[in-house]
Amino acid sequence: MIQRIPGVRGAQAYLYESAEGLAVVDPGYTGSFRAVLRFLAERRLNPKDLEWVILTHHHVDHAGTAFALCQATGARLAVHRDDAPYLRAGRPRERMTFWGMADWLPPALVGYVLTCAGGELRLLEHGEIIAGLTVVHGPGHTPGSIGLWSAAESALFTGDILNNERGVRMPPWSVNHSHKKARLAPHRLSGLRYERAFFGHGPAIVEGADRRIDAFLRRQNPQPGTVPIADQPR
Ligand SMILES: [Zn+2]
Ligand SMILES: [Zn+2]
Repeated sequence: MIQRIPGVRGAQAYLYESAEGLAVVDPGYTGSFRAVLRFLAERRLNPKDLEWVILTHHHVDHAGTAFALCQATGARLAVHRDDAPYLRAGRPRERMTFWGMADWLPPALVGYVLTCAGGELRLLEHGEIIAGLTVVHGPGHTPGSIGLWSAAESALFTGDILNNERGVRMPPWSVNHSHKKARLAPHRLSGLRYERAFFGHGPAIVEGADRRIDAFLRRQNPQPGTVPIADQPR
């Protein structure tokens, strides 16, 4: 079961319940862990049963409350290997994002903000499965941007690889780490079959989502096929 979590600021947060585990995808902007806890309580779910907080990428509107949510629940945090450095002290400077604001905070405070995670990060790789979700690495928006595909739910979480704010589209160049790569990234989602798509920004598509997204990709330049299909998880 997939549900959007109401009251979260920033990007959209989702609760993912499957036979393979209970996870929150992208808990949202700093402070939003309270809205997540409220939602779990309303659904009579024990916060201690939350196993994973999975980030589609490190941007603060998706990840800002991740450590706090892990601390409040005991959940472990998972992020793609290439975005993990941005969640640690001494991370690369990211001028495109609000995370960058931490670069102007006093070092001691930055250290506190970024190291209060309960446990170690689980570093995700393309093609691996976490809580029943297959990781699709689509670098560009950030180096470690991922989509998460659920065969059981016939659903795809796009993170910010694609948004649906005014129809399906890619994020603008101004927010991308590498716009060139970000234009290729969505093609890594082609070949997957799913009925529903859940975006970081914009309403979900609840029917025929793969056809809508594939149609969008066919209108793009470069064309699908740029990324070998053999590279796609099945
Ligand atoms: Zn976002
Ligand atoms: Zn983003």
